[in-house]
Amino acid sequence: METIYYFKPIICLLDDYLLFKLLFKTDKKQLYFPKYPIEKEIKSHKQIQEQVHKLEKLFIDLNIKIANVNIIESFCLKQITKTEKEWSIGTGISLEDVRVEVKEIFPALYEMLSVFGSKQIRNKATFGGNIGSASPIGDTTPVLMAYNSVLVLKNTKAEREIKLREFITGYRTTQMNHDELIIAVKIPIPNKTEIIKSYKISKRKDLDISTVSACFNLTKDEKSIVKDIFIVYGGMAATTSRATKTEKFLIGKQWNRENIEKAMKLIDEDFTPISDARSGAEARKIMARNLMMKFYNDTNKS
Ligand SMILES: Cc1cc2nc3c(=O)[nH]c(=O)nc-3n(C[C@H](O)[C@H](O)[C@H](O)COP(=O)(O)OP(=O)(O)OC[C@H]3O[C@@H](n4cnc5c(N)ncnc54)[C@H](O)[C@@H]3O)c2cc1C
Repeated sequence: METIYYFKPIICLLDDYLLFKLLFKTDKKQLYFPKYPIEKEIKSHKQIQEQVHKLEKLFIDLNIKIANVNIIESFCLKQITKTEKEWSIGTGISLEDVRVEVKEIFPALYEMLSVFGSKQIRNKATFGGNIGSASPIGDTTPVLMAYNSVLVLKNTKAEREIKLREFITGYRTTQMNHDELIIAVKIPIPNKTEIIKSYKISKRKDLDISTVSACFNLTKDEKSIVKDIFIVYGGMAATTSRATKTEKFLIGKQWNRENIEKAMKLIDEDFTPISDARSGAEARKIMARNLMMKFYNDTNKS
């Protein structure tokens, strides 16, 4: 079968895009970029080259200097490297392609991507774009945090890794420097003892962003005592956020309904959500509490 590569400057022109992104940001011309119809389905290296020439011309017209276009990098951003320890997923891959790939190995990510936008949106949206936007209601972030994913950031000089759990610093702000791109997401293969589940609440199943989302990663021992738990919510704060008080309470406790009901009350202390067009603050708290109970019920299913 012939591979069709999707050409998009943000994922192809690594070195040059960094310059491009910076210029557009400082010139406040960023809006121009998505509007320009430079995305094309292309099938060969030669066509990529042709496309690049067209871009170069565009950039020259815009008085933006473009030097060596690194085509090899563009292919790297489309790759998935699989080892026994982890998968490294290129950020230029569409969300639909990621969804299909991860079904068996990262089911919580598969479940979340299955209710992400619509197939058309998933075919266009990239893995990197959803993380890079750092939206508090971005759907992949809570799940990737629960899997303890690591982002690979790159600029023209160096590469560095940062845990996604530490990446987001505030409302749509991150630890990424202006001259960096996220080039890959490393997702560790979970241990057999980890129970990881994701949930999304929205008004419609298709084409609706989250009102509240959540992902849980639970490890309990043979006596059903919680050894470790990671609880993360989207839509409950200005960033994707952990329910740290709730986590602390549950660690060392019996995984039973009584303790879950106590934990649900603590979720109220962990978050002060806002009211907006999608939901009132109180309703968000109820949703968050109920997702905790849903997770508990799901862990008890045989
Ligand atoms: C109809 C519709 C439905 C949607 N439904 C959902 C939904 O259900 N859930 C959801 O979470 N979102 C949803 N979205 C929002 C959006 O589609 C997603 O966030 C998508 O993943 C963005 O990907 P993109 O490739 O288009 O990113 P872009 O729009 O190209 O980029 C988004 C931001 O990330 C940055 N960026 C992109 N790639 C990288 C990279 N590799 N490294 C660093 N920064 C990068 C860009 O600079 C930009 O600031 C929806 C949007 C629409 C229009």
